[in-house]
Amino acid sequence: MAAILRTVGIVVVAAWLALLLAKEKFGPEAVPVTTSLLGVGLALIAAGIALGFLGRARAAVARSRCARCGTAIPRGDVYCRQHFRDTIDKMRDSQRK
Ligand SMILES: [Zn+2]
Repeated sequence: MAAILRTVGIVVVAAWLALLLAKEKFGPEAVPVTTSLLGVGLALIAAGIALGFLGRARAAVARSRCARCGTAIPRGDVYCRQHFRDTIDKMRDSQRK
């Protein structure tokens, strides 16, 4: 979604630049260039970047919480120290039986 917004924004800005070049060549009467098109393009790019940043931030927050109790833990870990130890102890017990 974020990537699509960014791509569409870049295309709109590129189209605006193409219109600007056409205006230089054929004169302002032949090619009406609106600055609002540039605004729309830049807004789309900004929205895409903001959405991508939000998604990444949300994923980072979701990753740094214990799967059982929800305590903050280092990035990449699944459980907090207590629950990590519990899980290993349970695995050991089940293998012993
Ligand atoms: Zn925990």
